[in-house]
Amino acid sequence: VVEITGLKKSFGSLEVLKGIDVRVERGDVVCVIGPSGSGKSTLLRCVNLLEEPTAGRIVVDGTELTDPDVDIDAARTRIGMVFQGFNLFSHLNVLNNLTVAQRKVLKRDAAQAEEIARRNLARVGLSEKIDAMPAQLSGGQQQRVAIARALSMDPDVMLFDEPTSALDPELVGDVLGVMRQLADEGMTMLVVTHEMQFAREVADRVLFMDGGHVVEEGPAEQVIGAPRHERTRSFLSRVL
Ligand code: ATP
Ligand code: MG
Repeated sequence: VVEITGLKKSFGSLEVLKGIDVRVERGDVVCVIGPSGSGKSTLLRCVNLLEEPTAGRIVVDGTELTDPDVDIDAARTRIGMVFQGFNLFSHLNVLNNLTVAQRKVLKRDAAQAEEIARRNLARVGLSEKIDAMPAQLSGGQQQRVAIARALSMDPDVMLFDEPTSALDPELVGDVLGVMRQLADEGMTMLVVTHEMQFAREVADRVLFMDGGHVVEEGPAEQVIGAPRHERTRSFLSRVL
């Protein structure tokens, strides 16, 4: 469960998040949509404390990340994150990409880390790429490896920030397929996406953000299918 309350974030005098309240229940998929610059990435980056919130509370499975006494590194290992691109360590092969943090952060031994890596590579359909270098993989395969790497840390929640928006169109489906499978398996997910079809089919709830606020939130069929707010309607008319 992810609970975000009264979250604000400013960069200097620019207030980017103006009081965000979001709750993601265990096993739920929440998709965040909205125009460029509305604060979607900043929201995700605050959730795993890549950015320090200016105000507000973030609680993940009972641990308040915004508590100054919390062990940030320990808390962060419970949160998997996949970005738009450049996720993998380019100098490490796929296996080592999947094992390095397991060994260094979770202190797993090499055999255990490799077994978990193999299991998660199989989950994303890339077992045969275990020895490949990232540069030898397509963008879609790299993103699936990045997902497998995040899963290898046994996260309580997965954050996705437009994981398919840098991909060639024919590669998007494979990555969305893996995300859909994760959702079906009950992973708790907070997903920033421009893929409205994915949001409609997979999201339990959709948030529309604009100007640092959540303008509208609800089931996908409402927010995307029958938006109540003019700003949501005008955004959707540009992306659909
Ligand atoms: P996009 O759809 O283009 O990815 P977004 O909704 O993810 O947009 P953010 O990346 O969260 O938007 O950015 C929101 C605002 O915050 C923008 O005006 C951006 O310029 C500003 N911003 C983001 N990160 C920083 C930073 N580190 N320093 C200063 N301003 C920042
Ligand atoms: Mg962004």
